[in-house]
Amino acid sequence: MKCVICSRKIYENKFCHLHFKAYTSILEKFRVWQKATSINWEDYLCQIQKNSLTGEWAKEVAKYLIEEEEKKCLEK
Ligand SMILES: [Zn+2]
Repeated sequence: MKCVICSRKIYENKFCHLHFKAYTSILEKFRVWQKATSINWEDYLCQIQKNSLTGEWAKEVAKYLIEEEEKKCLEK
């Protein structure tokens, strides 16, 4: 199995260690943001993608998660 984003070896949960690290920091920041702004998950992911301060790894993860959300919508 390979990372869904970069095709490196899987570390955990579909991601390589670099993308998994970015993924966990996205989740952590989301909890903080949600308390402060009650932002929803999709808007939050969009913000990450737009934010120039976000690292490339996190942007790639956000892009992937947005695509996954869209797929879920299509399946409904
Ligand atoms: Zn990766």
